Amino acid sequence: MLEIKHTLCPSCSVGCGINVVLDDGEIVGTFPYKRHPVNAGKNCLNGRNSINCYKNKFENVEVNALISDVLKELQSVDSFNVTVICSGNNSVEEIDAIKEFAESNDFNIGFYADNLINVDEVASYDDIENAEKIFVIGDLLYENPLIGRRIVHAKQNGAKIFAYCKSETSVICNLADECFNNSVDEFLDVNNANIDESSVLIFNQIDSAENLDKIKALNCKLLPVFSKSNSKGALNVLESKSKDEMLELFDNTKLLLVFDDDVVEEFDYDFSKISKIISFAPCENETTKISDIVVPIKTWLEKDGSFVNAMGSIQTFNTIVESDVLSEIEIIEKLKG
Ligand code: SF4
Repeated sequence: MLEIKHTLCPSCSVGCGINVVLDDGEIVGTFPYKRHPVNAGKNCLNGRNSINCYKNKFENVEVNALISDVLKELQSVDSFNVTVICSGNNSVEEIDAIKEFAESNDFNIGFYADNLINVDEVASYDDIENAEKIFVIGDLLYENPLIGRRIVHAKQNGAKIFAYCKSETSVICNLADECFNNSVDEFLDVNNANIDESSVLIFNQIDSAENLDKIKALNCKLLPVFSKSNSKGALNVLESKSKDEMLELFDNTKLLLVFDDDVVEEFDYDFSKISKIISFAPCENETTKISDIVVPIKTWLEKDGSFVNAMGSIQTFNTIVESDVLSEIEIIEKLKG
């Protein structure tokens, strides 16, 4: 019997709704979620592929034996040499649990949010469509297409679009009235006088901390768009580190605990310098491939939780399929003893 269940896309911070199709309880595909207020029935390829992790999830294993191996490793290292990695892939509830676990044990916390910042008064998606001028840093139309769609609507409404993207042939450069390709710095300097209250600046990348200082000083609405679904929620409770600070942290780490993240994919670092790596992950990634211990955890389809999307709205998601695999929160409870 075919069933369609509503949930959220976990593949970026835009917060699109997505429908999951089940056939006799087995997940077989995705389907547009037409009434969802963020994306009104559209999902990009990344969103449609978000069920792949479920299809390739780790088999359920004898988790108690793995937990006791993890505890042995934790007991063999000084707490200041232990780093816990969390990311926007974790739900609001999981971030709270990971933070509490790390802080109560005096472990380091490594949290990276694309080098971007938290903004209290963030622009809403409706602000994009109503803006007179839109300044874009990064190829939002390709990387976050459901925000890109709002930019297209704004242009149809008469907005002027100014963009920075390294590639002159990028989708955003094709759409923009003016496109810059040299550096974020140049883009901000040249456009500074033109950016005002009627503008929205949307960005999913920056080149340096100096870019952020310039962005914070602008007199316009800001919308940072993160690569992970709950980076904004994590930023509400954790301080993010820059890429350089993360590399320095890795240099001082002997035992790395990675909670649902792929640091090998994200950072250009020689991870063989770290004595032990333990991954808590729902499916294989580049980090699990080099990990000494991999503890399977529930995929997002197998649990309840909430994400905070890029514009700051809290969105909840519910269990689509039941599973015996432990959630991160249940595993952390076991590690606490
Ligand atoms: S734009 Fe982001 S949230 Fe929306 S469907 Fe694509 S990956 Fe998912």
